[in-house]
Amino acid sequence: MPLEITFQSLRLQLSKLLPAACVVCGQSCFNIYSLCNECEYALPWTKTSCKQCGLEKDINTMVNMSCGHCLINPPVFNYCNAVFRYVSPVNKLVANFKFNAHFDAGHCLSSLMAKKMQNAYANEEKPQLIIPVPLHRNRIRKRGFNQALEIGKVVSRRCQIALAHSVVCRSRDTSPQTELRSAQARKLNLSNAFVVSDKAALRNSSFVVLLDDVVTTMATANAISKVLRHQGIRRIDVWCLARASR
Ligand SMILES: [Zn+2]
Ligand SMILES: [Zn+2]
Repeated sequence: MPLEITFQSLRLQLSKLLPAACVVCGQSCFNIYSLCNECEYALPWTKTSCKQCGLEKDINTMVNMSCGHCLINPPVFNYCNAVFRYVSPVNKLVANFKFNAHFDAGHCLSSLMAKKMQNAYANEEKPQLIIPVPLHRNRIRKRGFNQALEIGKVVSRRCQIALAHSVVCRSRDTSPQTELRSAQARKLNLSNAFVVSDKAALRNSSFVVLLDDVVTTMATANAISKVLRHQGIRRIDVWCLARASR
């Protein structure tokens, strides 16, 4: 049995016996993903969002759940699903996971994403692959892990969708997109930054999920979607823990 599954079943058994500390309020809770019911209910879940860019919008300003911006400038991918708004406590949980390696917080948010994804595809076509947004090897060396891949491991296992962690790679160590001011600078920063490194892994797929922790500008998701489209991928759904706007 793979070590990860052993760890998960052990954790499940332990959670029945020993309370865990809720990742938000710190109180004891008997829950496999370390979140008490009150805090789960109070999380900033997204409500009405544009189906294409994932930003929360007033329902009266959208046409068929697409915002005005996406109707004029549709993204390269098909849909963007954000689980949460990027506000407290989600922004703190994500930062703790990413920069302080708090894997409990990451596991908790990933489990909630998996629940939402399971519901989203329960009565429709299911994606064949989950592709985590890659980090450049220099960034992985510094951080020690790729947060999108860690989220992908949990979601893949729960939703029974294969995880393809080395299909796309980041060939250049680009500046963080959030540090660049203009849309043009962000586009240039990412030009040719992604390559499909394992074409064979995509051969039997036409519908994939592109997964990231936080989507801010969409430039990264668009740049990766472009290289996936060139490989004949028909549908690309972006999934993120949170959708932030600049
Ligand atoms: Zn709590
Ligand atoms: Zn939109």
